[in-house]
Amino acid sequence: MLQYPNLEQALKYHFGYDQFRPGQRKIIEDALQNRDLLVVMPTGGGKSLCFQLPALIKKGLTVVVSPLIALMQDQVEALRNNNISATFLNSSLNPYQVRSREDAILNGKVRLLYVAPERLMSERFLPFLDLVHHQVGISTFAIDEAHCVSEWGHDFRPEYRQLRSLRSRYPNVPTIALTATATERVRSDIIQQIGLKQPSIHIASFNRQNLYYEVRPKTKYAYAELLELIREIDGSAIIYCLTRKKVDELTFKLQNDKVSVLPYHAGLSDEERSNNQTRFIRDDARVMVATIAFGMGINKPDVRLVIHYDIPRNLESYYQESGRAGRDGEASRCTIFFSFGDIKTIEWSINQKTDAQEQLIAKQQLRQMIDYAEGTDCRRTIQLGYFGERFLGNCNNCDNCRHPKPVEDWTIEAMKFLSCVARCKERFGMLHIIDVLRGAKNQKITQYEHDKLSTYGIGKDRSVDEWRMLGRSLLHQGLLEQTNDGYSVLKLNAHSWEVMRRQRKVEIAISATPKLTLIEDNPKLAEAEELLYRLRSLRKQLADEQSVPPYVIFHDSTLKLMAQVQPKTLVEFGKLSGVGSHKLAQYGDKFLAEIRAYRNAKNAVNQAAEDIPSVSLISGTELQTLQLHQQGLSVSEIAKKRKLSPATIVSHLAKLIEKNQPVDINQIVPLERHQKIWQILEVLGDIPLTPLKEQLGTAYSFEEIRLVKEKWRRDKRK
Ligand code: ADP
Ligand code: ZN
Repeated sequence: MLQYPNLEQALKYHFGYDQFRPGQRKIIEDALQNRDLLVVMPTGGGKSLCFQLPALIKKGLTVVVSPLIALMQDQVEALRNNNISATFLNSSLNPYQVRSREDAILNGKVRLLYVAPERLMSERFLPFLDLVHHQVGISTFAIDEAHCVSEWGHDFRPEYRQLRSLRSRYPNVPTIALTATATERVRSDIIQQIGLKQPSIHIASFNRQNLYYEVRPKTKYAYAELLELIREIDGSAIIYCLTRKKVDELTFKLQNDKVSVLPYHAGLSDEERSNNQTRFIRDDARVMVATIAFGMGINKPDVRLVIHYDIPRNLESYYQESGRAGRDGEASRCTIFFSFGDIKTIEWSINQKTDAQEQLIAKQQLRQMIDYAEGTDCRRTIQLGYFGERFLGNCNNCDNCRHPKPVEDWTIEAMKFLSCVARCKERFGMLHIIDVLRGAKNQKITQYEHDKLSTYGIGKDRSVDEWRMLGRSLLHQGLLEQTNDGYSVLKLNAHSWEVMRRQRKVEIAISATPKLTLIEDNPKLAEAEELLYRLRSLRKQLADEQSVPPYVIFHDSTLKLMAQVQPKTLVEFGKLSGVGSHKLAQYGDKFLAEIRAYRNAKNAVNQAAEDIPSVSLISGTELQTLQLHQQGLSVSEIAKKRKLSPATIVSHLAKLIEKNQPVDINQIVPLERHQKIWQILEVLGDIPLTPLKEQLGTAYSFEEIRLVKEKWRRDKRK
C-alpha cells in the first residue's frame, strides 16, 4: 500500500485535485479513525471523495451502497479513469461477469465495490460478504443517498431499511451515511434507521455559491429569452416542464430552432429514456427537456443551466432540481419562468387531491414557492432560510442582489383598487375590477351598472398590467383575499380596511424591464475560447473511444485551465487541478500536442497580420473570420469551415464592425430587415438586445440585431 506524507498529496496523486472542498478533510480524517459518520452536503459538495479517498488508504474492501444502476456505473467509470480499482455488482451483469468480479474481490484486487441494497442483503450475497470479510476484510460501508431510508424523504426505498442488520452482522465495520437532504427530520431518521453509533455529524452549508438564481416573468417573449439563455452558455442545459405534453411541445419547438435537444418523461419507453439520458450525459445532445421524472440518476457535473419553464411545486424540490447545475463548482445559472397561469394549473391539480391534509400541505408549499418567485429579498436568504440556515443576503449572485427592484409607494392606487372591490360588493374577480377602474365599456359592466360607480374610470392612468401587478401584490401581502372556489372572487379583510382608512401604507416592488446578462468581453477569455473548443473536441473523441461521458476524461474546469495556462511540458500539465498521476500518463501527450498545434496555427496567422498594419488590433481568430467573410461565405459556412459555433462567428463580426473593419452587413442581414432594426434603434437608442428583440418580435434573431446594432453604434460615434 502506498503511503502518503499527507492527505493533500494523496488527493493530488489519485484524483488530481489540489485542495479539499470545505469539510472534506475533516470527514476523511474521521473516516480514517474508523468512526461512524453522517455526511450531509449539498449536491456537488463532493461527498463521494469522502469515502473514496479513505478506501484507497485503509486496508480491505469499501462496500458502497447505491440505489441506482446508472449512478453506480458513472462512479465506477470515473474511478477507473483515475486507475482506481472499483467495480459494481448489479442485475445488468451476466453470471460469468459476476463470477469474475467476485473472484477479483476475493483476491484483494478491488478497493471499492458498488452494490444495490437488495442485492447486498440477499440470501446469496451475505455468505459471500462473510467470505470477503474473512479473507480481505471490509473496511467500511458507505451508504450513498442515505435519505432513501426515510419515509419523510422524497425517494423512500424500503430495501434501505434492511441495511440496519449489517450493524449486528459486522459490528466492527464503520458505516458512513451520505445524503444531500436538507431537512432535519430525515437526518435524524437516517441515524436511527441505519443504526449509526455515536456518529460524527458533518453538515455543510447548503449555499451553492457558484449558482446564479433568477426568476423572470413568463411573458410572451419567454421562449425567445429561453433560446437566448441556451445559446449563451457553452455546455449542457436541463429544462423542466410540468407535464409530458409541455415537454413534447417545447422539445419540438427547440428542434425547429436547431437546438440539439431530447425529451425525457414517464411517457417514453424505458429504452428511449435511458438512450436519451446517455446521449445527454455524453454530450451528444446539449439540452434535455424533462419532467421531474428526470432526477436522481443524473450525476453529470457540467450542467451549466437549469431552467424551470413552469414553476416548481415547492422550494425543496426546486433546491434539488436547480442543484443539478454546476456540480463541478463552475459558474452556472438557475432560472425560473414565472406566470400566474401556471399557478392556476397547479392549484387545479392540488384541488383534485382527495386527502384534505395533503391538499393543505401542497397549498402551503405552493404559497412558499410563489413568495420566493415574487420575493424581492436575496434568493439565497429565502432558500436557505427554508432549510433553517441563516444567510444575511447581498450574495451578489442572484437577480435580486444584482438588480434590486425599486420599491414604490402605491397607497393611493391601493385605495382606489380596494374601494372598487368594495363598491362591486366583493362579488367579482380581478379582471372585472380592473375593467371598472379603467372605465372599460363591456356588457358585464353595463349589465351590473358598474359604469355608474364612483370608482368607474378612476384608474385610467395605469395600464392593465400595472393594476394586475398591484392586485397580486395586495394578495401576497395579505391586504386582500381571493376565494378558492375556482372563481377567485376578491374579498376584503381587516387589513384592506386599514389601507382604505389611510392607516396603512402600501409599497410594491416594481418589476423593471427584463434583466439582462452582460456577456463578458475579456480578450484573454476570447483567445482561450478557440483553444477550448479544440480541447473539447479532443476530449469528446477520447471519450467516445472508451464509451464514457466526456467529463470522465477531464472536467470543464480542467479544460479551461489548460486553455488559459497553455502548458508546454508534461510537468506543467501535471500541475493543473484535475490532472492526477494516471490521467497525466494517459492523456498528457495528446492534450499537449493539441495545445502545440493551436499555438503554431495562431503564430502563423499573427505573422500574416503583422504585414497589414491597420489590422494590428484584430486578434488572429477575428482575422480568419474576416478573410472568409470577404470571400463571400455566410456565417454558418464560416462556422462550419472554422469548426466554431455560429454565435462565435457573429461575435467576431460584431467586434470587427466595432473596430471599423470592412464587414459588409448587407451580405449577412437582408436590406429590408437591416432597415427595420435600424429604425427601432433610432427610436429606442442604445438599449440591450432583449428589449430590442421584444420590439422586433420573434422573426428577428439576436444575431442579426446584434450586428446591426454594432454598425449603428459605430455610425453614431463617427
Ligand atoms: P455529490 O455526490 O456531493 O453531489 P460528487 O461527489 O459527485 O458530489 O462531486 C461533485 C464533483 O466535484 C465531482 O465531479 C468531483 O469530481 C468534484 N470534486 C470533488 N472533490 C473535489 C475537490 N476537492 N476539488 C475539485 N473537485 C472536486
Ligand atoms: Zn442574493
